[in-house]
Amino acid sequence: MHDLLQRLDNAARQAGRPPPRLLAVSKFQDATAVAELVGAWRAARPGETPALGENYVQETQAKQAALGDPGLEWHLVGHLQSNKAREAAALFDWVQSVDRPKLVAALAAHRDPERAPLNVLLQVNIDDEASKHGCGPEDVPALADAIAAQPRLALRGLMAIPAPLPDLERRREAFRRMRALFEQLRPGYPQVDTLSMGMSDDATLAIAEGATMVRVGTALFGSRERKGGRPGTPSTS
Ligand SMILES: *Cc1c(COP(=O)(O)O)cnc(C)c1O
Repeated sequence: MHDLLQRLDNAARQAGRPPPRLLAVSKFQDATAVAELVGAWRAARPGETPALGENYVQETQAKQAALGDPGLEWHLVGHLQSNKAREAAALFDWVQSVDRPKLVAALAAHRDPERAPLNVLLQVNIDDEASKHGCGPEDVPALADAIAAQPRLALRGLMAIPAPLPDLERRREAFRRMRALFEQLRPGYPQVDTLSMGMSDDATLAIAEGATMVRVGTALFGSRERKGGRPGTPSTS
């Protein structure tokens, strides 16, 4: 944990940028592994709120119950079906995978007005991959307006999962296109401060290109396969 935080901060310093936020992607990791990581995080950075990323609503419900730790921030980074919006609006502090008007309306309708607004990122399919979720870059302005019109949602920025091309220069290109979209979006929306991009194998590259949040799973927890867990059934140690 400590080493990874150092590495991210070094990458930011070299690029002349503020240190990025870390999102620890804990999908398929059992509660014991997550609790250990949270302990290491608090030891390394007292005062920081550990942020955990999950892909599935049910798995998150089970993990939150098992951890029983109110001092965590939960982010949904996986695709969300509209019929799960009620659960997602209750379980998460952030939803990073918003990509269509129907989902905006469903999340806004279900967010408890007694709670802080749900933070949302627009997921952009920056490499136009047929297999990927996310809106097209051309859809960002209209979706941003739709979110801004919802008092129970707070538009915080953009998220992308660029194609995992072996050619790092081409990945850099995708990060640059995201940065340009982010800079275009910002002036109109005072709360927009987050560009979420970069994972275990390209976090430092993403930081160099302007990421303000990186989402790291494998580099923190080790391989997900090795643990043998299935989605939705976190094993007990
Ligand atoms: C799983 C996942 C990650 C983490 O990927 P690693 O390569 O394990 O760091 C990041 N973002 C999203 C959207 C994911 O689904």
